Amino acid sequence: MNSPKLRPRILVFTGKLGYQTRAFDAAAKKLDVELVFVTDRCHQLADPWHDRALPVRFEAPEEAAYAVMQAQAGQRVDGVLALGDRPTLAAAYVARGLGIAHNHPASVEACRSKLRLREVFRDAGLPTPWFRSLPLQAIPEPALMGITYPCVLKPISLSASQGVVRVNNRAEFLAGASRLKRLLESAEIQATGQPNLDRMIVEEYLPGREVAVEGLLKDGGLRVLAIFDKPDPLEGPYFEETIYVTPSRLAAAEQELVKQCFTDAARALGLTHGPIHGEFRLNDRGVWPIEVAARPIGGLCARALRFQLENEIEPVGLEELLLRHALGLPGWDAPRETAASGVLMIPVPESGILEKVEGAEEARAVPGVTQLEITARWRDYIAAWPEGSSYLGFLFARSETSAEVECALREGHAKLNFKLTPRLPVEHPVTGKV
Ligand code: ADP
Repeated sequence: MNSPKLRPRILVFTGKLGYQTRAFDAAAKKLDVELVFVTDRCHQLADPWHDRALPVRFEAPEEAAYAVMQAQAGQRVDGVLALGDRPTLAAAYVARGLGIAHNHPASVEACRSKLRLREVFRDAGLPTPWFRSLPLQAIPEPALMGITYPCVLKPISLSASQGVVRVNNRAEFLAGASRLKRLLESAEIQATGQPNLDRMIVEEYLPGREVAVEGLLKDGGLRVLAIFDKPDPLEGPYFEETIYVTPSRLAAAEQELVKQCFTDAARALGLTHGPIHGEFRLNDRGVWPIEVAARPIGGLCARALRFQLENEIEPVGLEELLLRHALGLPGWDAPRETAASGVLMIPVPESGILEKVEGAEEARAVPGVTQLEITARWRDYIAAWPEGSSYLGFLFARSETSAEVECALREGHAKLNFKLTPRLPVEHPVTGKV
């Protein structure tokens, strides 16, 4: 008699359990794969969400890896996936410990530091803006010498453009630096325990068009899944995302240059296996890697990507592709569907408490719009950029051409109206400070 087939098991490291992990659950069910979530979202409570997630602290990656390996001792593990930036290092240590194909922890760690990224790219001869790391506490006057404007101030290890500010002169530089300092010293950011919260990186502002690229690495080879155009100009002073549309309308030769730059950047970092996401700027001086991350596109945006497997009628989501890739199953290299597709990350017009969302039905009714998901919670405070890092929601569209998708997203967005009321300043009872 045949022994029963063992279900493959995959560890999924994630800071958030929600929309994206549910999409993974659905794909896992279809492929008959067991998922084990590893998260740091709450380590005081025992399984508060009943998803049997393993609680760890991502900011202590080696300890987290040890805890996961202890918990998994004696059980089969076939693959390791990390969603979002923070869990990538813990996932890399676990994969290394279990002998599972993955990126080297040092490569992943370089992606988590905007400073280290620049050093690696510069040393590999990739196009690199001038950059400098400065302390946020009392910036020494001589450090400002030689800085040219415009330039960009950035935290070293946050993500989602949080804290990224363009400054055009010395006065803006000083104001931007103190705003960044306030953000990095805030209780919310300090609580994340991320490294380098007392420094910033300052770098040359690169003008140009920007694209985001989604890829999968296998044995060091890069497969580009999609190039997303970002049709809104991203000229600052803050850099929240808005529209992503694929296929790209860049000329074929420009797309090849982007792919080449992505390949070179991955190689420079030593990334070899798994999902990879990159942002690039193009101008008359070439293609510039802005950032490369060893993870798939963030959260809900993955819904803009669907892939056509050979023997299936309905396209499948990125989550299924990633599970197939992690398990070495056929279909991991399925092409993207032929339709044009896009997502609008709904920007936050001003910081405030979300009171009301109007026009949702009208936005959903716009031809080409396929989904609207409001992710901000009613009566929650939501911060605009540069302090913010969460969007109000996500609007998706699909059509024959990228131009149509862009129009549908703009039209849908125009129907939406968010009522946000500013939070009243609260005076500290002792110091009287606001
Ligand atoms: P994060 O990891 O927080 O997203 P990035 O380094 O990718 O930080 O920067 C966020 C955004 O800020 C980029 O997508 C880009 O639009 C803009 N940006 C960052 N660095 C530069 C630069 N040197 N020149 C122009 N724009 C930049």
